[in-house]
Amino acid sequence: MTSNTSPVELLYIVAQQLNASLDLTEVLGRVLRLTLEATQASRASLLILNEQAQVTHHILARPNQSAEVLEQNLRLVMSEGLSGWIYQNQRAAIIADTAQDKRWVQLPDDDQVTKSVLGVPLIFRGRVNGLLTLHHESPGFFNETHLMLGTGIADQAAVAVENARLFTQVKSEREALYALLQGLPMPLLVIADDQLIFRNRIAERSLRIKQTGAPLADIAGGEALAQALVQLRTAEFRAGVEMTWPDGRIFQVSLNQVTQHGLVVALDDITTLKELNEMKTQFVETVSHDLKNPISQIRGFARLLEDETLSEQGRLNLAQINQSAGYMLALIEDLLALVQIEAGVGGTVQPCDLAEVAAETLPTFSAALAEKGLRLTTQLADPAPVAADPLRLGQIITNLVSNAIKYTPAGGAVTVEVSQAANEVLLRVSDTGRGIPLLAQSQLFQKFYRVPISSPAEWVEGTGLGLSIVKAIADEYSGRVWVESEVGVGSTFGCALPLLK
Ligand code: ADP
Repeated sequence: MTSNTSPVELLYIVAQQLNASLDLTEVLGRVLRLTLEATQASRASLLILNEQAQVTHHILARPNQSAEVLEQNLRLVMSEGLSGWIYQNQRAAIIADTAQDKRWVQLPDDDQVTKSVLGVPLIFRGRVNGLLTLHHESPGFFNETHLMLGTGIADQAAVAVENARLFTQVKSEREALYALLQGLPMPLLVIADDQLIFRNRIAERSLRIKQTGAPLADIAGGEALAQALVQLRTAEFRAGVEMTWPDGRIFQVSLNQVTQHGLVVALDDITTLKELNEMKTQFVETVSHDLKNPISQIRGFARLLEDETLSEQGRLNLAQINQSAGYMLALIEDLLALVQIEAGVGGTVQPCDLAEVAAETLPTFSAALAEKGLRLTTQLADPAPVAADPLRLGQIITNLVSNAIKYTPAGGAVTVEVSQAANEVLLRVSDTGRGIPLLAQSQLFQKFYRVPISSPAEWVEGTGLGLSIVKAIADEYSGRVWVESEVGVGSTFGCALPLLK
């Protein structure tokens, strides 16, 4: 830039130079250099401010200040000095003689001579986002031309700084996101047009996916993944599907469609969980089988004893043995049923008519109902079939009806209703029994949960597993369960199963 360059030409050059970069540090450097050249000032500083008037970036006339001193100096100039004044008033200022102007704060460690100063705000959309300060060692150096030039540069610099700031922010957010995805402890893949376009570090290491930009079909395991993706696109599997990798590991795959970027696929290694679950099932099955025989024998021999002549106390003891053995058998059977349902063992799924299953199951309760003097009402519609194992559906009805009988006092009523809603078959078992407090209702379907009783007279034998079994079966068939109940009035347990497609 030569001394005979006109201010208009100068501003044009400034605009060109400022727009040539989006790097904030580079832009700040250019602003300072251009201003120093254009105004012939001896020194200059540039502060960039955030919305709270805090200095976020700076280039200072004296660059070698310790962090501590720098912080103190910045606070001082922003609170008492010219910088603070320009920020507050949002306009430029000339100090002709620093010795005569209160706005000039002489910093304690500043040994350079400054006699006159020009300060200009960088204003973007009505907010001061920066402050440009020019120093000169002679008093009265800065005039209206300097002011006009400084303001012209500052106006353009404000836009350039804002652009660079936004760019830097987006870039650093992008880098943070990238680092986050790379550092995630689970494999993450991005797939677009059946091509793998991103894999994070753990995916590279653990799934041995070396290259990106390759079609899925070319990756070892790509076939299993492609199959999982097809399943995941159907509503039924939105929550995730299991996939077996060629080396035998099992992953829970979940999917997120990100517009314009493709499919984000997260893989959760559940091999250990699966193994543990398998071990748990085997353990419960083995223990239950091993316990079942001796307990059945205890019960059998206790029954034989009933025919013997026993004292009154002997009879009482025998009844106790019988009851305890019966409870243990019920517990074992419930536990076995639950682990088998949860593990998806056994059960043949076929089109089932829930009303038919109810009609076949309910007669088994005649004796229990008569014994307690309870009235049974049924409303069995003719619903469309559901896909289920009829034995499991029978188990749902058995558990709900036996509860209704157990928890309803003599003289009460039990109603079993099967109906069809939009795309579900509904089972409702209602009673006029003791009801369930609201607080307990949310825990009813948890394993071993039993509603606390307030007096021994309320005690009814049970394992606390019946409703967990009902829920496990409903879950297996993508159904749902619920309860409506009022203490002292009665309860309705509901189960909805999707219609066979
Ligand atoms: P169990 O009946 O063997 O204890 P369940 O899992 O079938 O186990 O039921 C859990 C608890 O829910 C029961 O202990 C009882 O407190 C409560 N409950 C279940 N059904 C009813 C009902 N129809 N009326 C009142 N309480 C009920």
